[in-house]
Amino acid sequence: MTAKRRVLEPGEGTMKLPILDLKAQFKSIRTEVNNAIQKVLEDQAFILGEELKCFEREIADLCGVKHAIGVASGTDALILALKALDIGQGDEVITTPFTFIATGEAIAQAGAKPVFIDIDPKSYCMDPALIEEAVTERTKAVMPVHLYGQCADMGRISAIARSRGLKVVEDCAQAIDASHNGAKAGSYGDAAGFSFFPGKNLGAFGDGGMVTTDSASLAEKTQLLRAHGSAVRYMHSIVGYNSRLDNLQASILRVKLKHLGGWLEARRENARFYTENLSGLPVEPPYVPPGNVHTYHLYTIRAAERPVELMKFLNENGIENRIYYPVPLHLQRCFAYLGYKAGDFPASEKAAKETLSIPVYPELKREELEYVVGKIREFYGK
Ligand SMILES: *Cc1c(COP(=O)(O)O)cnc(C)c1O
Repeated sequence: MTAKRRVLEPGEGTMKLPILDLKAQFKSIRTEVNNAIQKVLEDQAFILGEELKCFEREIADLCGVKHAIGVASGTDALILALKALDIGQGDEVITTPFTFIATGEAIAQAGAKPVFIDIDPKSYCMDPALIEEAVTERTKAVMPVHLYGQCADMGRISAIARSRGLKVVEDCAQAIDASHNGAKAGSYGDAAGFSFFPGKNLGAFGDGGMVTTDSASLAEKTQLLRAHGSAVRYMHSIVGYNSRLDNLQASILRVKLKHLGGWLEARRENARFYTENLSGLPVEPPYVPPGNVHTYHLYTIRAAERPVELMKFLNENGIENRIYYPVPLHLQRCFAYLGYKAGDFPASEKAAKETLSIPVYPELKREELEYVVGKIREFYGK
């Protein structure tokens, strides 16, 4: 064969791949969702109704915990979990700066002080070896983040927390149905917070969240907090909030929950394809420690060579990609009062510069995955 490959015009043969395609997901469940919504509309029961109760039971069962309490968002789930544990003014909570703002924000909104420790550079989750030296007499809890959809090292984190008398509140916003040594995210801590923000692996048609716990007293306190401190109408035992997951969202989430297992398996298959086909390139695929089942909320690669140029090249070729998260929390203006500075958390700062996430959503087709891999290979001239 001597025929030369025709040179493509600029833009020709370019695919358009968003970082997430919720329209494709909706198409696959439209009728089911419409029926669920219609039922709630007919019932006209919107707050603390049957759909919510059923959904709470289903999430508790999925996580392998006794109680689940639906709240208005993932952020509220973390705030209410801390409040239910009586953590607030004068207390310190240890977490990592390489996460979405809501993790640190929840600690601060509960009235406590966020204390940051660095991440493990391979898993991007909290480095358990750094917990001890951050503990003071004010430390009340540790808040590990199951970043990108896989669990932090909960075996070690729980053991250290137990030995120092600290509570554990898991940030499970990105990791529904992830597991670590056979136990699910949300079942390790004293309490955990989940998010149903539309872009999460189990996303509502708006905001939503859930607190999980094995403790009956914590569950009861969280139920009081989310509903104006009231268990009996017009009787208010504590000062609470208005933070409930509404019935309409719960009904939609119940439909989606039936598909979650399949969607997560598709994400894992896409991730497997990327990891296999990106080998030999100067990019580091996600590291999955032994014992972890990853759910790939995000497929995040570390591009040690020319990350900024790679991101630009992928964008020019229609492949949306993002840094989760470009500015670590200790360098955010809102946390300037904590007194941290650049250089304090080198692994987090390095990850913020070198990592990027590429589309991994379940509806991606084989030729689209091949296109992404092809473009990354093309960029590195391999
Ligand atoms: C999304 C997210 C949250 C907050 O959830 P919302 O439902 O948006 O309030 C908290 N922590 C992490 C790590 C998240 O990704």
